[in-house]
Amino acid sequence: MDKNLQLGCCEKVNLSNKFEYKKRPKQEKKFSIKQKYYRRIDLCKNCGHLFSRHNINLDNIYDDDYIKLTYKNLENLKKTFKKITTLPKNKSDNTKRLKRILSFLKKEKKNSIQMSFLDIGSGLGIFPWSIRNFCKRIYCTEVSQKNISFLKKYLSLETFKNNRIYQLKNKVDFVTINKVLEHISNPNFLLKKIYRILKKGSYLYIEVPSNLAARKGKETQEFFIEHHHIFSKQSLKNLLERNKFKVVKISNVIDPSNKYTLFAFVQKIK
Ligand SMILES: [Zn+2]
Repeated sequence: MDKNLQLGCCEKVNLSNKFEYKKRPKQEKKFSIKQKYYRRIDLCKNCGHLFSRHNINLDNIYDDDYIKLTYKNLENLKKTFKKITTLPKNKSDNTKRLKRILSFLKKEKKNSIQMSFLDIGSGLGIFPWSIRNFCKRIYCTEVSQKNISFLKKYLSLETFKNNRIYQLKNKVDFVTINKVLEHISNPNFLLKKIYRILKKGSYLYIEVPSNLAARKGKETQEFFIEHHHIFSKQSLKNLLERNKFKVVKISNVIDPSNKYTLFAFVQKIK
């Protein structure tokens, strides 16, 4: 089962089964899964991390088939973008996120307007679009060609294909990675890459689904099949420190959309 899943959440991994799924949760996307649907969520009793365990192949869900399934076409990307960006401020997860980041920088006595940002896994560009007027430069990255075209042509955002971010080595003051890491079975690889492109003293802001979501039961979106990992404060801290980052702030929040989210600000100190 799931041979690529990184299971090292802490030093004393102690797994027990939390939830089991014999069919697709109602709200989960209908990916073309050929085998019988079986999946379970395992909990590490030592650190509270949750793993989604199955042997369903998810390798290709983020290429253009996934986007077709989700947004149908470029026109729909535009519609969805408009819908999200015109949400009332108190209904928008992104408005809160932007505020959180700008007030963090203020507290750290940094001036965002002099900083270059890189957003990893930009999707529809909601966050990069919102921060563009508060920073010197914003770079985006995406895996899907369709999203890259959307970000470049419709939003005029400077966008890289994910595997090209090494070009930004020493050019970035602040990296954001919102709701991306949980989609990767082994997140260490990406964190190492991010570490290399950040300047010394610069920051990373990260958002992942929180293990507190288990309070809402097993059908909640934090546990959908796209997420390999659901983090606890301890397991996220472990992962970040293992990758040489210094954790400056880590906290649980409930987003206006009712997502249970864990966020962290970390710094590259060496
Ligand atoms: Zn653990």
